Amino acid sequence: MSNKTAKVLQKKRAGLLAELATLSRLLHGSWVERYSVCSRADCKCRRGERHGPRHYLVIQEAGHQRQKYVANSQVEAAMDGLAQHRRLREIVDQITQLNLDLMKENAHENR
Ligand SMILES: [Zn+2]
Repeated sequence: MSNKTAKVLQKKRAGLLAELATLSRLLHGSWVERYSVCSRADCKCRRGERHGPRHYLVIQEAGHQRQKYVANSQVEAAMDGLAQHRRLREIVDQITQLNLDLMKENAHENR
């Protein structure tokens, strides 16, 4: 790997690090949609038309799973947040590759 190649890798890494800073709405969790039956005996939900969906994000909080209710008005924002988390994971994998390549190059230079 040439010095020029290392510069290209560092430039790619800088771009990915800058993109990380844009993922301000990220959410890490599992999306759950629920339909429910209420307490009214004469309600349509008792005849199969259940209420919902109600949305929840299942997250890890201090090592425990917690379900957080997400209001309908916030569903779109939550979807964006989950997409940003997927992008975060991709960026982490890409930076890992770049850093491994750069480490290989440094090991080569220092030999
Ligand atoms: Zn009902």
